[in-house]
Parts: sequence; structure tokens; C-alpha cells
Amino acid sequence: MPVLAELAARGEVGRAAVIPPGMPPGSDVGNMSIFGYDPARYHTGRAPIEAAALGLRLPPDRVAYRCNLVTVGDDGTMIDFAGGHPSSEDARKVIEALDDELGGDELSFHPGVEYRHIVVAPAEWAEADCTPPHDLTDKPVVWPTGAAAPRLREVMEASRPIVSRFGLAANQVWLWGQGFQPEMPSFSARYGLDAALNSAVDLVRGLGVLTGIEVVEVEGMTAGYDTDYAAQRECALDALADGAELFVIHVEATDEAGHAGDVDEKIRALEAWDRDILADLVHGLDRLGPWRLLLLPDHATPIALKTHTAEPVPYLLVDSARNGPGGTYSERAVAGATPVVGHSLMARLVGRDPSV
Ligand SMILES: [Zn+2]
Repeated sequence: MPVLAELAARGEVGRAAVIPPGMPPGSDVGNMSIFGYDPARYHTGRAPIEAAALGLRLPPDRVAYRCNLVTVGDDGTMIDFAGGHPSSEDARKVIEALDDELGGDELSFHPGVEYRHIVVAPAEWAEADCTPPHDLTDKPVVWPTGAAAPRLREVMEASRPIVSRFGLAANQVWLWGQGFQPEMPSFSARYGLDAALNSAVDLVRGLGVLTGIEVVEVEGMTAGYDTDYAAQRECALDALADGAELFVIHVEATDEAGHAGDVDEKIRALEAWDRDILADLVHGLDRLGPWRLLLLPDHATPIALKTHTAEPVPYLLVDSARNGPGGTYSERAVAGATPVVGHSLMARLVGRDPSV
């Protein structure tokens, strides 16, 4: 990654604790930190962030649940937390049938992407401890516990005959990740800048909606290995030329490779970042004027573990007008650095402390 190496040599590298102690190491928490908001204060659950990405605004008396289409075996084993990855069109029909037959004044089902959907329920339904279905793969399902658990279990069991009618691998829903809509001050009020982003991931897009960061569509952008890196880069440069004062580029491919345990895909994704984003991004930024750049992952997804972990991540901060101490951007090179608080980096990037 020659461009990254050159940037690191004239910037500042270190370690950032983007996942606060005790919080789940997910993209919702990690990106909230990167956007400059303390997750310990603002994070209420992942479902309301995904709900925002679908355009749902939750009144205070409503809670959002993440609603996976899953496959549970007759023996009660979680066979597939992604329900065989149905297409969004196939899944939409299932979610609409669930809304027709189980929905009403209390409960509503909202179609999302592939196996990932949203249920909105009365506030009291929030009182439950739910297990994420991806933590149950090949294990016996663990039903929710807590005051609202019987209602949740009732919905999940009632979904079985309905979902099963559609002939997909999925045979029921799984409810988890609940939360109320977080009260996040807008990014422009907090940091005094107009910001925009591109990402194919609901959680990142939802954070944009909740903070007033404009979500820009990019043709060819996907949440997989095949995203059009150059198109995401050009989108950022166009937006910055057009008046945006900060732009967030988010690419999911490295995380996917981590989950798949596929080291070759991970290397390909990282090299694509260098070749297809950073190289011409730097040239384009130089043409626009002085700039700063912050580069970091929203969490680690080690190949060896195939899942997210909470340890601090390497960050790179570059100022086009001022050389930093220089260093090497790698996990090994920064292993000895004292971690900085993840959500404090935005203030350093934009050169001012948050005002709200
Ligand atoms: Zn992931």
C-alpha cells in the first residue's frame, strides 16, 4: 500500500479506542465514535440506527427491533442467522405478509435489505435481553429473557407458519438489537461543518440520517468485494468541490473478508483502497486546497476469529499543510501506543471542539 505508507510517513499514526469498554464491537458503535459522538452517551441500540436508514422516525413511545429472517432447525438449532440470504424482493413479500397477519396498532414490520428488517413496537416491549442470531450459529437458540420476552417469543413463533409459506431457506424471524431513537445533535451544529458520506451499509447510512450528514448515492457502490472504489472516491471529491466541508468514505469489503476468513480477499480490498481511493483522492484534494485526512477502521475483524473484536484500531491523521511525526500504519507498528479516545479524533480532524 504505497500511498498509505507515504501518507503515514508524513502524518501521525496511533491507536484509537473506537469501541468504549463494555460496548459491543459493531459498526454502529465504531462509526458513531468516528463521527465524533461518544457511543457511551448516544448509542441506544443498533435497530433504531437501521430504522433511520429506512427513513423511519420513531416517536418516544416506540422501540425498534432488528428483525432477521433466520433458519431454525426442527431441533431448535440456529442453522442460518441470514436465512439463506434471500433477495430483498423475496424478503419484502415475506415482511409484508407478516405485517398483514401479525401487525396492527401495536406492531409493524418494515422491509429492509436481504435478511435484515425492522419491527417497531410499543415502548414497553424494550424490556428484554435478546441474543444476536449470529452469535447462535449452529447452537440451540436462546430465547429472550425479561419482562417483554413472552411477547417477543410469541411473535417469533407466530412468524413460523407465515415465513415457511414462501419456500425460502428462512423459516421464522428473530428479534434483537432493540433501542429507542437516539437524540444526536446534528453534525453541523456540533462541529460547524457541512458533511456528507457514502456507504452501502445501513448502519452507516442511518448514522448519517440521525446526524444530518448527507447520504450520497453512488452507482456501483455495494457492501461486498465488488464495490466500485473509484466511484466512491470520485463521489467524495465531487461533493467536496461542490461545497461539502467533510466527507466520509466507508467501504465494507475488508470486514466481509474478515468474516469469511479470506486473507486473499482482505489483501485485495486493502490494495484497492490504496490504488483506487487514496492515490487519486490525494491528487484531487491537493487541487481543492489544504486538507486533513483521518483514516481508520470502525472495528477489527480478525481473519483468525471471523468476527468483530473490541481492541483499539490503528488510525492515521494527515495534514496537508503540516508534517506530523511520521510512522508506519499497521497494527504491529502501533501496538505499543497508548490508545486515544475514538470519538475525540473528529475534533482533531476538523480543528475544533464539539459545541453541542
Ligand atoms: Zn462485520
